[in-house]
Amino acid sequence: MSPVAIVWPCPLAVDAYVAAGRDAGFPRPACPSCAGPLVFWSGYRRYVREAGRCRKIFVPRLRCSRCGVSHALLPAFVLAWRLDVAETVGMVIAEVAGGGCGVRPAAETAGVPYTTARGWVRRFRARGRELGVAFAALAVELGGVAVTPSARAGRFALAGIGAAFAAAASLPGWGRLGAWRFASSVTGGRLIAANTVSPWLVVGRRRFMPPVPT
Ligand SMILES: [Zn+2]
Repeated sequence: MSPVAIVWPCPLAVDAYVAAGRDAGFPRPACPSCAGPLVFWSGYRRYVREAGRCRKIFVPRLRCSRCGVSHALLPAFVLAWRLDVAETVGMVIAEVAGGGCGVRPAAETAGVPYTTARGWVRRFRARGRELGVAFAALAVELGGVAVTPSARAGRFALAGIGAAFAAAASLPGWGRLGAWRFASSVTGGRLIAANTVSPWLVVGRRRFMPPVPT
């Protein structure tokens, strides 16, 4: 069993999360590998960048006594292995993959290097079909609208995320998170990760895992 990052639907602003330290109201979900009970097990610090400013945040680790694996508990405003907050990454992706503008102006608006922004968009488009299918299935599962696949993978994925978030936003707690924290939460932070896993979602006590597209 390999460690899995658990992304919790943290509604706090980055500043508030930093200020809260080890008292940020961390949930204690069941083990994503075996559904066993998890206990807090130290943690580590990592950087996150928002509006051009780097902050150091505390990330707790949870350990499963049943399978012995420890899991990082990431707040929804981060993506695994990415420095920039989910909202920044999402803003660039939505602008470019949505056809609003090219990478360069989107990167300038977001205040991130061009090559960084280009990497996000490339990865998102490369995973676009897979993400579109998974989020469209999630939208339907949550009682939302059906999304018609688009020939453009990036647009399909954006439409799927939009539909799934619109459906999730009617459930307690999800609406205030915004679409990109939602997207980070349900993909375990791997929205634009190189190695993919099926998006999963814990809404209340219920776990939902969309099928992996073929
Ligand atoms: Zn376990």
